[in-house]
Amino acid sequence: MKIAIIGAGIAGLASAVRMASKGHQVEVFEANSYPGGKLSQFELQGYRFDAGPSLFTMPQYVDELFRVAGVTPESRFRYQRLPIVCNYFWEDQTRLSAYADAPEFASEVEEKLGVKAEKLLLSLEDSRHKYELSGRIFLEKSLHRWDTWLNWSVVKAMLKIPQFDLFTTMNRVNERMVQHPKLVQLLNRFATYNGSNPYKVPGLLTIIPHFEHHQGAFYPEGGMHHITQSVFELAQSLGVQFNFNSTVEEILLEKGRATGIKVNGTVLPYERIICNMDVFHAYRRLLPHAPQPEKTLRQEKSTSALIFYWGVQRDSPELNMHNILFSEDYRREFELLSQGQVSDDPTVYINITSKHTPGDAPPGCENWFVMINVPYNDGQNWDAIIEQSRTQVMAKINRILGIKLQDLIACEEILEPRSIERKTWSHLGALYGTSSNNRMSAFLRHPNFSQKIKNLYFVGGSVHPGGGIPLCLLSAKIVDELIDV
Ligand code: FAD
Repeated sequence: MKIAIIGAGIAGLASAVRMASKGHQVEVFEANSYPGGKLSQFELQGYRFDAGPSLFTMPQYVDELFRVAGVTPESRFRYQRLPIVCNYFWEDQTRLSAYADAPEFASEVEEKLGVKAEKLLLSLEDSRHKYELSGRIFLEKSLHRWDTWLNWSVVKAMLKIPQFDLFTTMNRVNERMVQHPKLVQLLNRFATYNGSNPYKVPGLLTIIPHFEHHQGAFYPEGGMHHITQSVFELAQSLGVQFNFNSTVEEILLEKGRATGIKVNGTVLPYERIICNMDVFHAYRRLLPHAPQPEKTLRQEKSTSALIFYWGVQRDSPELNMHNILFSEDYRREFELLSQGQVSDDPTVYINITSKHTPGDAPPGCENWFVMINVPYNDGQNWDAIIEQSRTQVMAKINRILGIKLQDLIACEEILEPRSIERKTWSHLGALYGTSSNNRMSAFLRHPNFSQKIKNLYFVGGSVHPGGGIPLCLLSAKIVDELIDV
C-alpha cells in the first residue's frame, strides 16, 4: 500500500519503520526542516542541548523497532542504565539520591528521611502489581475495539478493577503507603511525567515509579536526540521517503474514506494516512469539513513547561544528570497550575547531560536544562511570567546549592508554551496532549483510528495511550496492528 505519514515526531518515525518493514511504500511529510518534533536538539556556543524529553524509560519499545526491521538494535542504538535516577533537594537542606536499584533507594530513604525501607519497597511492589494487572489493557491495546474487551485476559484483569485505585488519587495512595510528607511529595512528582496533578490524578498512576525503580531509567549514547536520529536513519534505510519543510494542508476525503493529502497546493493520493499531528489541529485544520469529535477535542490539556537552557561555567559535584529542587508547598503549586497560574516557588528540575557526555559542554562547564511546570497556554502574560520565574528559579537554585548562578551563565535559550506550539503544533503548548486528571481520561483520548473516516489513523502524544516517548511508540505499535495488510 501507499501510506502517507503526517509529521516526523517519534510516533510518526516509529510508524514509518513499522509500515516500511511490512513492505509498504511510505512517505513522511514534516513541516519542520528536521525530524523528531519535541525530541530534537540544538547547539549554542559550544553547548549541546536536548530540546525536549530528558528522561528515557522503557527502551525496549525503541529496540523493538530495530527488531521489526530485522536489524540488531545494539548495532545502531545503544543506551546505559543510570545507577542514580535522580537527586532530590529540599529547602531545609535535606538531600537524597533515588538509586535505580529499589533496595538501595529504600535504604537511602531510611537513612535520610527515617522511613523504614520496607515501606518504600511495599509501595514499589504495589506499583508493579498494578502495572502487571492493568498495563497491557490501558497501554498496549486499542480501548476502542470490541475485540480488546472480548479477550479473556482483559476480562480477568477487569474483574480486579478495585485493586487499580481508580477511585482515589495518587496523593491519597502515596499517603496511605508511605506517610512521610517528603517521601509522599517525591512519589507524587510522578504525576508530572504525563503533565497531571497528583491531587487529582487517579491512584492507578502510581504505576509510574515501577518503570524507574524496577525496569530502570536510561540514557542513550549521543543523547536523547539519538533516539530520533537512529529511528530516522532506520526508516531511511528501509526506503521511507522524507519530505521536510512540507506542511500538510488538508486530508482529502471521498465517500467517508481518506484518499490523500494536499501539500503546497498539490493533491497526492494515498491508500492509508497516519496522522502524527496533534489531533486537535488535525481536525480543525486538516479535516475542517469532517464531523469534529468535540467532546474528545475539548478534554483538559496536560501542563506545559518553561525551560531555561543555560550554559553554566561550573562543575557541580552535588548534581547528577537528573535533579529536583522541591517547592515548599506542593499542593499549592498544583492548585495554582490548575488555575492557569505559576507558583512563585516552583519545583525546579535540572537536567545535565554533560555529566554523562562531557563533550556536551566546554571543559569545566555544564549544559543545564532547567525546567518548571507551567499551565498550558490560556492567553497568560508569558513574557511577565518568564521574567518573574527566571528570577525565582535562580534564587531557589542559589539558596539550595549555595552558588551565585547569575554570574556563571555563559549563554541562554528559552522554550515556553507559545514556542512549543509554534515548533510542534502541540495544542496550547501542552507537553503530553490531554491530562490524565480525570478517572475516565484513558477512555476519553482519541482512538488510534477514526471511527468516522476509513483508512485514517492517529499516533502520538495527543491520542491513545497518551504522551511521553514510550506511549507514543506504543501508539505506533497499536496502529501497526490495526492497519490491514
Ligand atoms: P511531536 O514531537 O509532537 O511532533 C509532531 C510533529 O508533527 C512535529 O515535528 C510537527 O512539525 C509535525 N507536524 C504537525 N503538523 C504537521 C503538518 N500539518 N504537516 C507536517 N508536519 C506536521 N517524554 C518523555 O518520555 N520523557 C521526558 O522526559 C519528556 N520530557 C519532555 C519535556 C519537554 C520540554 C517536552 C516538550 C516534552 C517532553 N516529553 C517527555 C514528551 C514527549 O516529548 C512527547 O510526548 C513526544 O515526543 C511526542 O511525540 P509525537 O510523536 O506526538 O510528536
